[in-house]
Amino acid sequence: MRVYTGLMAVGVVVLLAATVRAAPAEPSFYGDPPDENHPWAVHDPHRPQPKAVSPGTFSMPEQPGKPPSDAVILFDGTDLSKWEADKAEGGPTKWIVKDGAMECTPGSGYIRTKEKFGDCQLHVEWAAPKKVEGNSQGRGNSGIFPMGLAEIQVLDNYDNPTYADGFAGAYYGVSPAMANALRPPGEYQVVDIVFRRPVYKDGKVLDPGYVTVLMNGVLVQDHAMLEGPGGHMGRSKPRPFPEAGPLKLQDHGNPVRFRNIWYRPLPPRAVEGSTDGYLTTEAAMAKRKEIAAEIREDAAKRKDAANPLPEMLRLMESLVYDKDETVYRQVEQMGGQYVESLKKLVADKLEAKKDEVKRVNDAFRYLGRFKIVPATFGPKVEIEKMVKEQGWDKK
Ligand code: MG
Repeated sequence: MRVYTGLMAVGVVVLLAATVRAAPAEPSFYGDPPDENHPWAVHDPHRPQPKAVSPGTFSMPEQPGKPPSDAVILFDGTDLSKWEADKAEGGPTKWIVKDGAMECTPGSGYIRTKEKFGDCQLHVEWAAPKKVEGNSQGRGNSGIFPMGLAEIQVLDNYDNPTYADGFAGAYYGVSPAMANALRPPGEYQVVDIVFRRPVYKDGKVLDPGYVTVLMNGVLVQDHAMLEGPGGHMGRSKPRPFPEAGPLKLQDHGNPVRFRNIWYRPLPPRAVEGSTDGYLTTEAAMAKRKEIAAEIREDAAKRKDAANPLPEMLRLMESLVYDKDETVYRQVEQMGGQYVESLKKLVADKLEAKKDEVKRVNDAFRYLGRFKIVPATFGPKVEIEKMVKEQGWDKK
């Protein structure tokens, strides 16, 4: 029977987790508190939920997939309205659109997006000409340049050796592709890129920038550190990139085709001001204060003389984030009043509050365990004593 009840409880929790997305069932006072580099408590149920994105579908050689719902579509097979010639003045490109693809017109020059962007998840599909011509770097050569810098090589290496750092999927001139996962020429190759530009401040590198590339789902660049724009023959050196730049595709004299090009901008990193990730102490403490202020704002909304507990619990939670002296005293006072109100209850009324009191006891014990309040904190001591007296601490 006990097992059965347990299973039912699990079922209810699973059901709640699946349906109540905005109000998670997970308790507060649960995981480790924030510290000097992490502004959130572990498993804090109030941490913002990830944004919802409807996934697309995967691409097959015969058919492009559908981009995810938040993708910025750069080319969907119909027109080049998002693109221009890669010249100072821009203007129309001589690349053509044919059979749902854009195709490089050899000798016409690079093509670039009118839009400029930086960090991204970038999706590109390309196909080398079916008719095999040339060898090494002369066969089905093009290139994908996030921000117009750092070429991710496009090349028909299906049965065509070349120098490794110029291979399809290479960060050209810097980092060889880790595998040759190419399909035969004429077939579409699917490239997914995660690009993080270098971030500098006052001439100092905060994050060198990285590129990760999957070719047909096979990892070919694994968080490769950026060392400048790469390039032919010369040794590329690390350097700052601008905040944004156009995506460029290369004209290397071969009629390479592209389709289904889209990107998703990536959120900033901790070095750029994000409060997720491993933060400086200054940034973590500032965010903790902000979180505490939000919790206190929420606590104020729960103010209710007839039922002061929800406000008190939220104020207690705010102390986990920011040990404000006034709030500390307020919790001490409210906790004291709470204990007094319990003491006035007759036995069966108190018994009815067993779960609530145990929850409050757990919250105070949490604050004690992490030294947010001292072991001698009045309400904590009193409630613990009451729980023991009632025998509620035993299973
Ligand atoms: Mg190239």
